[in-house]
Amino acid sequence: MAKKRRVIITGGAGFIGSHLCDFFLSKGWDVVCMDNLLTGSPDNVSHLLSERDFTFLDMDVSGFIHLAGPVDAILHFASPASPIDYLEHPIQTLKVGSLGTHKALGLAREKKAAFLLASTSEVYGDPLVHPQREDYWGNVNPIGPRGVYDEAKRFAEALTMAYCRSHRLDTKIVRIFNTYGPRMRIQDGRAIPSFLSQAIQGKPLTVFGDGSQTRSFCYVSDLVGGIYRLLNSSHHFPVNLGNPREMTILEMAREILKVTRSRSRIVYRPLPEDDPKVRQPCIDLAQRLLRWKPKITLAQGLRSTARDFRNRLKGPK
Ligand code: UDP
Repeated sequence: MAKKRRVIITGGAGFIGSHLCDFFLSKGWDVVCMDNLLTGSPDNVSHLLSERDFTFLDMDVSGFIHLAGPVDAILHFASPASPIDYLEHPIQTLKVGSLGTHKALGLAREKKAAFLLASTSEVYGDPLVHPQREDYWGNVNPIGPRGVYDEAKRFAEALTMAYCRSHRLDTKIVRIFNTYGPRMRIQDGRAIPSFLSQAIQGKPLTVFGDGSQTRSFCYVSDLVGGIYRLLNSSHHFPVNLGNPREMTILEMAREILKVTRSRSRIVYRPLPEDDPKVRQPCIDLAQRLLRWKPKITLAQGLRSTARDFRNRLKGPK
């Protein structure tokens, strides 16, 4: 019988991390979820606690991490990821991207495990090249409020490539563009969770600026499928994963009103500092290398996310 493979997912109790836990368990892996629950939630993995192949470790990956026994892969997904979260936890965000990435790489080296870094479209900052290809170096303000996240992830990419080159570690880097789906924190302040909860509760939708800034939103199951393919590839340089369907934030607010059949108004609020004006992934590389492209339409993705938000907004707070 083939040996069971074992994966560590840091940030496994977060939004994307918890979907990765589900996915790897469904593929027959042994899953170790490490999370310090700063922005993750035990609710995201409570349905997995009784599974024999699932272990939850309440651990801060910015400190020393260790685990007995063999490990085949480490997926480093721990980090605050929404702008209001990293503004509230700037130092933890810098630490988990730098010290946390160092610890996770060190453990991967000791275990001779593959390592996959969750990087971000934020490495492109407020981009001057559109759509963004992997060979664009970005336009980041290092000392602005978003710099703590952007620079931590840029450093994490540099460190990952250094481990790849100096220690011949089998590393991969995924640059994740805006992703949405069930289990996003209702209060995480990002556009889709905010608009959905506002629309469902009959409150006004808060569009920042004039809503002409663009984003491209990918449903979480599409992203997770792409991450699995990347892990199984031998490509060490960064790969964009996201949905190239670009839209303005105002269009997204209107789409959410339609999907939820809400009669809420749209109100305008000041645009946060350094808010990128445009964002759209070029996914040619992922298509060529991984034979991957997103499948879930915006209407399907928003319907299933709205269902999850309705249930949680109804349930105990
Ligand atoms: N945004 C908005 N209203 C909100 C939350 C966000 O208009 O209640 C805007 C935000 O200014 C940005 C876009 O929606 O232009 C996407 O923001 P989000 O925080 O989801 O992710 P980002 O891509 O900025 O990291």
